[in-house]
Amino acid sequence: MRDFRQYQSSEFLIGSSEEKWKKGMKPKPFEKPVYVTRPFLPPLSEFTEGLKEIWDNRWLTNNGPILRRFTRQLCDYLGTENVCLFNNGTLALQIALQGMGISGEVITTPFTFVATTHALYWNKIRPVFVDIEPEYYTLDPQRVEEAITPWTSAILAVPVYGHPCNHEALADIARRHNLRLIYDAAHAFGVKVNGQPISQMGDLSMFSFHATKLYQSIEGGMLVFKEAGLKTTFDYLKNFGFQNQVEVVMPGTNAKMNEMQALMGLLVFEYLDEIIEKRRKITEAYRERLQNVPGLLLPKPLPENVEYNYGYMPIQVSEKEMGISRDGLFQKFKEYNVLTRRYFYPLICDYSCFRNVHVNSPLTVARDVSSKILCLPIYDTLALDDVEKICDIIHDSVS
Ligand SMILES: *Cc1c(COP(=O)(O)O)cnc(C)c1O
Repeated sequence: MRDFRQYQSSEFLIGSSEEKWKKGMKPKPFEKPVYVTRPFLPPLSEFTEGLKEIWDNRWLTNNGPILRRFTRQLCDYLGTENVCLFNNGTLALQIALQGMGISGEVITTPFTFVATTHALYWNKIRPVFVDIEPEYYTLDPQRVEEAITPWTSAILAVPVYGHPCNHEALADIARRHNLRLIYDAAHAFGVKVNGQPISQMGDLSMFSFHATKLYQSIEGGMLVFKEAGLKTTFDYLKNFGFQNQVEVVMPGTNAKMNEMQALMGLLVFEYLDEIIEKRRKITEAYRERLQNVPGLLLPKPLPENVEYNYGYMPIQVSEKEMGISRDGLFQKFKEYNVLTRRYFYPLICDYSCFRNVHVNSPLTVARDVSSKILCLPIYDTLALDDVEKICDIIHDSVS
């Protein structure tokens, strides 16, 4: 049933735009900017209903009742009690590294959002950048293994765009070399492998609920981990190290999630399946319309055992075959009021603040992908008609 509807809508998309194309009609710029993403918002009435409860409670933060309800819901969803919530993903990751006592060198990817590396620096850990694999842009396990030194304490991998990493190979390396395996899974909420949430893969995973992610709590972060004992440490670290009113047991920081964030997270959670389904349809429409553009590379479809969250719509632009560079297409989209993003360009190691990091490993794939990558708009309320127009702009660029 689902497949049938999808087929119909794609047929319609192809038919109508190819006709326009033949007539030589130029696409028109969008009247309002089309952003690369927009947050899903629950009905306002649901939020104001929740606000009334917060007003009645007069409890705004510090492990409030709504935060506890939200935590319970996430524990049930993820099938573990080892869940800790934070005011954002970056602080969650910093606290994870600190609480686990990670030090020395950590092997990581240069093809990610800059916060992955920042979290290492805030813990005085040296990032060791290694190359990614060309299919899903995740860490190349062979490169990871080559980069291990006596100072290596962990692997910090990123399921970038929500693409699961080669987790079996990474777990095997971590086991053989006695390293911790940590995932910056900021993009991967809702992704499952063999029916299991992606948080089952390593020693610990961080998720971000920032407004720009497909699942949001305004700002927010979550750690999910294997070792139950870490929960107390994380709870201390996010609340100044307070054990009780008169005892501070470690130099913590302030990284607590507040009640408004928890409320948003709770409400949006009810719509998670709907959000993912809408994004799936948009992805299908893009794939259908872009599959035969010469020089335009779509990510390889994910293996059967992966339930994807459709968080991002990355394409690679090969100038030689497409006749337009990635930056040329980015610029052209801008003229049409489509605000695409070059996630992730430049590579982290090319930012001025990280240029002093010596990179031993060749980053051939990462450099190539970073120079060609462009993320197209995708969010639940993006109309399929607009997807069609966005694809028209691409077709117009190559014809
Ligand atoms: C968004 C993001 C973060 C940071 O999360 P915040 O909640 O915004 O602090 C970290 N890593 C990656 C890969 C991200 O995309």
